[in-house]
Amino acid sequence: MHRSAFVLVTCLLLTIGRTNATAQRQGTSKSVILFEGARLIVGDGRGPIENSAFLVENDRFSRVGTKGALQIPEGATRVDLTGKTVIPALIDAHSHIGYMKNLTSGSQNYTRENILDHMYRFAYFGVAASQAMGTDFGVLPYQIRDELLAGKYPDAARFLTAGRGLSPIDEISPTNMRHAAYVVTTEEGARASVGELAAQKVKIVKTWVDDRGGSVKKLTPDLYRAIIDEAHKHNMRVAVHATGLADAKELLRAGIDIFAHMISDVDDELVALFKQHPNTAVLSALGGPRRAIYAPWLNPPHSLVAETVSAEQIKRLQGRFPERSPDALKRAQDAWDRLARGIAKLNAAGVKIGVGTDGGGQQGDQFIGWTMHTELENMVAAGITPAQVIVAATRNSAEILGLDDLGMIAPGKSADFVVLDANPLDDITNTRRIGNVYLRGRQIDRAKLRAGWTGRP
Ligand SMILES: [Zn+2]
Repeated sequence: MHRSAFVLVTCLLLTIGRTNATAQRQGTSKSVILFEGARLIVGDGRGPIENSAFLVENDRFSRVGTKGALQIPEGATRVDLTGKTVIPALIDAHSHIGYMKNLTSGSQNYTRENILDHMYRFAYFGVAASQAMGTDFGVLPYQIRDELLAGKYPDAARFLTAGRGLSPIDEISPTNMRHAAYVVTTEEGARASVGELAAQKVKIVKTWVDDRGGSVKKLTPDLYRAIIDEAHKHNMRVAVHATGLADAKELLRAGIDIFAHMISDVDDELVALFKQHPNTAVLSALGGPRRAIYAPWLNPPHSLVAETVSAEQIKRLQGRFPERSPDALKRAQDAWDRLARGIAKLNAAGVKIGVGTDGGGQQGDQFIGWTMHTELENMVAAGITPAQVIVAATRNSAEILGLDDLGMIAPGKSADFVVLDANPLDDITNTRRIGNVYLRGRQIDRAKLRAGWTGRP
């Protein structure tokens, strides 16, 4: 019995070299691939492994080390990555999926096809998973989430959903996303809504605490405490859109788990509260504020933008900036400076920071996938090191979303990684120099995806 098993395994290993490519395509028999020679950034903040080697067996990393020192099964296919840099696939912990479609944004675009298109866009940009933050509705998001997690669409990123967010309706902006919300008016109602989300296996509940500059009545502490309490009873976590300093403090005291956006201002008391709540994380979401004062990738459009976004959509965004008055620009600059100082201060204090882009929101101008790369640049501009930013976008974001098998290049983790043509530790914009993207051990077909968007082979 043992002997025949041994013979079988040996035969398998001998044939693996020839069958790897087929096995990968068909996802049938065992695939063993050795990637060697790359500078490897594993995602935990350690310095890179130069001249690395790592082994991928089927959809998992099995061994990680240096070239020549790694034990390699006979028959493994070799891929030479000399001169390249490898990072774990990125994770976007805050997006709005399904609404944006070329020049329009709204629930009319919220179809299976469009949701999948967005998840293909993420994958194209080296993003392995994204968390939609409270603007999904119906049963479709749960179906697609489960299909993607099961690997039904191997070229697409995983889709996580907070389902319907909880809010007094006026707080949600833009208004075309309001229809998705559970309208919260009583504690009992809030708890019942959280229970419905738990039944759909939602892991993160989204809520809003923002008076939008005094224009609307924001969610009251009694109600958000009920949401947090009920979510925790179901082992769910709560992500809040709350950018005001005083609200952020009260939410920390109430046991909030995740700030979905960077808080607009940071003082010592806030830092002290974070230290008392070490499991509370902050997502960056710096793109909206910074784009108003810095978007060199738009004129001329970066090649990654040009090959994924329609010319008319790019043109519309280009047209939006020159209309700003000097006063508006000054306000935008001040807001950015405050945000940048704040996130640098939280980072220095050891607060867990993940990366969220808010991609797909804001009437279609937050380009899905691309915003991930501008977000990383924004974080470096705020004073966080490239190495720390990569940890935020990989390991930290995976931990925040509860994605145990993503975020690092380590034995046992899902083999999701990006092969870059240049080193992002030298210049964070090198994350845009994508050579290849692998999801679940399989190289995705970026050329085919690109052809689908540009209409050119
Ligand atoms: Zn958002």
